[in-house]
Amino acid sequence: MSTPATERTNLLGLPRPALEEFVRSLGSRPFRARQLMSWIYKRGAAAFADMTDLARELRVRLKEAAEVRAPQVISVQRSADGTRKWLLRADVAQAFEMVFIPEEGRGTLCISSQVGCALDCSFCATAQQGFNRNLSTAEIVGQVWLAARELERDARAARGVGAEAGEISERHITNVVLMGMGEPLANFRNVVPALDILLDDFGFDLSRRRVTLSTSGLVPQIYRLARVSNVALAVSLHAPDDALRNELVPINRKHGIAELLEACWHYLDERNGRSVTFEYVMLEGVNDSPAQARALARLLRGHPAKVNLIPFNPFPGTRYRRSSAPVIQRFRDELLQRGVLATVRRTRGDDIDAACGQLAGRVIDRTTVRLGNKIIGVAVQP
Ligand code: SAH
Repeated sequence: MSTPATERTNLLGLPRPALEEFVRSLGSRPFRARQLMSWIYKRGAAAFADMTDLARELRVRLKEAAEVRAPQVISVQRSADGTRKWLLRADVAQAFEMVFIPEEGRGTLCISSQVGCALDCSFCATAQQGFNRNLSTAEIVGQVWLAARELERDARAARGVGAEAGEISERHITNVVLMGMGEPLANFRNVVPALDILLDDFGFDLSRRRVTLSTSGLVPQIYRLARVSNVALAVSLHAPDDALRNELVPINRKHGIAELLEACWHYLDERNGRSVTFEYVMLEGVNDSPAQARALARLLRGHPAKVNLIPFNPFPGTRYRRSSAPVIQRFRDELLQRGVLATVRRTRGDDIDAACGQLAGRVIDRTTVRLGNKIIGVAVQP
């Protein structure tokens, strides 16, 4: 009798200690977990029958009790600049997104941690759809696993090599950022085991400096994270004072800027980190004046901080506009002159709504276009 797929344990959700326990429960020695992980993460294998160096008995048991199941792809869009966006299924009416951004010498995968978001930042498209649910560990890890497989398949097709041959030939994904939909620290329980798998030598084996968790500023969870993980931290600051940040990032009313920065420096001390990246979305006439740049410099100078200025990406219904390029440059120069490192994030994938803050998980069916729970229009069949 075979177990229905939904009752099987999805191995993508198990960090190494849990997988060892699982393998033991199937009557095998725990070290088999490492072999199993190599098959899954290094070779992108999903079928236990292919895992030929595992005992036949274990393969049979695994087939009955386990599966390697990534989220289902609804659609893939490619941008003119090579950026690729996947729309992935959460359930019948809900979807979430991930984005791959190829650059010279590196490939960054931007993954989601929740379907929707509860934080209600005023300039973010994801906020408009409200919060739907947390992604499971398997769904978070499954994004990376799926993207690695699809990128490998395409690389092979480009070289004219068959899909079945060998293992994953190169590292297409060198960096993973939790900067897609959702607030990762609001899904702490599922995100932390996913980080463990990303960093595990037998998992994706990414260096801790190449995995970045971005948070809107959930202060207690930053302290919690400092106890269990050491990935790179990015913080969505967006304003140099509490009055403005209260408006843009409402969680600030609970945990103000001073408290947030304290948590950031604690994280670095505790985890021996190099610096915290502060994201700052450039909104015309809102937070982009030279005086605000100077106020930001006063907050950060002398601390291990980097500022990443993000040109605002518009979405339907927003009241904000992007600051002009000269204004962004001026803002950056004000920071640099005061000894605060600052870079401007290059906008990628905006022609397919894949840029920062544009991810909304739209599900298009035959009749309606849904943005979260709201029906926003009637779709024209593509
Ligand atoms: N919830 C987390 C993860 C989202 S990361 C966080 O807030 O950090 C996505 C980054 O893009 C955040 O810095 C977010 O503030 C920023 N962002 C959101 N909407 C944007 C928009 N419309 N244009 C540019 N950046 C935006």
